[in-house]
Amino acid sequence: MDCIFCKIVKGDLPSTKVYEDKRFLAFLDLNPINKGHVLVIPKDHHNTFLNTPVDLSKDLLALVKTLAPAVMTASGANGFNLLVNNGKTAGQLVDHVHFHIIPRLKDDNLHHWPGKQYLDNEMELFSKKIIKALEK
Ligand code: AMP
Ligand code: ZN
Repeated sequence: MDCIFCKIVKGDLPSTKVYEDKRFLAFLDLNPINKGHVLVIPKDHHNTFLNTPVDLSKDLLALVKTLAPAVMTASGANGFNLLVNNGKTAGQLVDHVHFHIIPRLKDDNLHHWPGKQYLDNEMELFSKKIIKALEK
């Protein structure tokens, strides 16, 4: 398998690990958005968050809750962004599910995505479409 995160899990590629157990691995992102930026992955290969079994996802999220305060302490951060890119359109470059824990510092010059505006009855329209999709 060509997956670089599977190679990291196997030890075929180097990584700077901050946590490891039987099912999960956390390591520093090579190109951090802020220093201390950590990636958390299940060792088993699942392409996206949606393809990851629910129980494993829950435990992954629980691990993120343990790791995030440590990332903040180490980085002197006051907050963090939790990011999961799902699919190429959303910016997913590595097709092995991963959570980004991105420490945030006051005045780090990172800006939130600009918000768009709904026109006329679009809000109602979108809510109805989502509710309908949930029924399937
Ligand atoms: P995404 O766009 O959500 O798929 O993010 C992939 C992340 O993996 C990027 O932030 C990369 O900087 C990071 N990355 C890619 N290769 C490595 C590697 N060998 N070790 C650590 N981080 C990596
Ligand atoms: Zn993989």
